[in-house]
Amino acid sequence: MLSKKTKVKYTEKKKKSKYPKVGFVVFDKWCKRCGICSELCIHNVFRIDEDGYPRPVKPVECNLCGFCITRCPDFALRMIEGKSGEHSA
Ligand code: SF4
Ligand code: SF4
Repeated sequence: MLSKKTKVKYTEKKKKSKYPKVGFVVFDKWCKRCGICSELCIHNVFRIDEDGYPRPVKPVECNLCGFCITRCPDFALRMIEGKSGEHSA
């Protein structure tokens, strides 16, 4: 069993990404809740919320491939480099 200190270290290491920080803006007004963005993301950065909108729950896992933003049919997703998490429009 891991000690508390080791667990903390492991969790912190896991959260660090080798890629630059990135955040997302989901324009709910434009999003048609098709789910393409979350389906295409192999790192499961998005989770679909109870209303069907994608929410970037694990932006630290993002490798900046750009699939989600370029494949969104309604241009409802924007990536913000240098900021993590979800940001309002
Ligand atoms: S840029 Fe790529 S890795 Fe990042 S959230 Fe979009 S699909 Fe996922
Ligand atoms: S691909 Fe675009 S329209 Fe479809 S759920 Fe994602 S943000 Fe919304």
